Amino acid sequence: MKADQLRSGTLWKIIIHENDISAQNSDGERVAIDGTDALDLSHGDIIEVLTDNRVVRLHNGKSSSALIYITNQCNSNCIMCPDSETARQKQNTITKQFLLDYVSLLPSDLLHIDITGGEPTLLKEGLVEVIASTFKVVETAEVQVLTNGRSFADEKYTMQFEPFSKNRLYIEIPIHAGEGKLHDKIAGIRGAFDQTCKGIKLLQRYKIPVGIRVVVQKLNIWHLTDIIDMIANHYPNIMYIDFLGLEVMGNAFKNKDDVWIEFDDVKHFLENAVEHCLYRGIEPRLFNYPLCLFEKKYWYCYKNSITDHKIRYMDACETCPMINRCGGFFSTTIHNTTFQARPIK
Ligand code: SF4
Repeated sequence: MKADQLRSGTLWKIIIHENDISAQNSDGERVAIDGTDALDLSHGDIIEVLTDNRVVRLHNGKSSSALIYITNQCNSNCIMCPDSETARQKQNTITKQFLLDYVSLLPSDLLHIDITGGEPTLLKEGLVEVIASTFKVVETAEVQVLTNGRSFADEKYTMQFEPFSKNRLYIEIPIHAGEGKLHDKIAGIRGAFDQTCKGIKLLQRYKIPVGIRVVVQKLNIWHLTDIIDMIANHYPNIMYIDFLGLEVMGNAFKNKDDVWIEFDDVKHFLENAVEHCLYRGIEPRLFNYPLCLFEKKYWYCYKNSITDHKIRYMDACETCPMINRCGGFFSTTIHNTTFQARPIK
């Protein structure tokens, strides 16, 4: 049997041992398959075969990290979201059972897992089950939930995450401004700031580590130090703030005139924000920017963060000795910037 003839309606993990290739589902059913070359499948891949025999790879067996994608839907409508409003309003077809099956097939030696969406807390109590299953499967990976944090304003919900406080669970929450009016404008929901802030407080009460994300854009570029001060004043246990460059697609593309700011124009604000974080005792981290944008003294907080299949480099990068350290550009953003890559000397 070829891989694209595997039964649909279940997930399959590809197992390659010497010359034997097989696929196994979460019920333990194992089927020998003829070859993986045409589909470029690897040991450890998790695949779904659709009813029209198309094969979708949900996890790359060669990767040390995994993504658990909970839903396309969201309860906010951020102006710079890389998904479009239409995509987020489509009916969600991902069930809790599908997610539990997927998690059961993940390798136990992963280093990092992102649980994301859309808004993952829309799975409600199901998210707690998915996280619990994840920790049963993976031995040492850190598990990061990317959420707008609003659902955690409900203490009855938040307290269900307390058992994970001794695991390696991190909740990553975006703050768009130091006050509610601008934050709510960017999140597209009135009252979002108050809910998110209450959510952070409650998560900290239940000892769940929280990291802050700031998606840097034209609307908040002048307010980065306000955000840092707000975090430092109200949430002294926050250890780090991530500053992220935009991915210009979905809402961000539609609202490009309102949100996009050129890399060279953002550089000074970011370096200033890094200095201010240090002054306030918070670790700064820089994500989704080209390395050559920054002075070398800021490289210590630079993260090579863009997902492999989305990374692009400019022609000039071919001669850059730091290309392996540099995260490059989003495939979408590279077409929307006038930035010229500057190979490191
Ligand atoms: S020249 Fe290219 S590879 Fe080198 S740091 Fe700049 S963007 Fe990265």
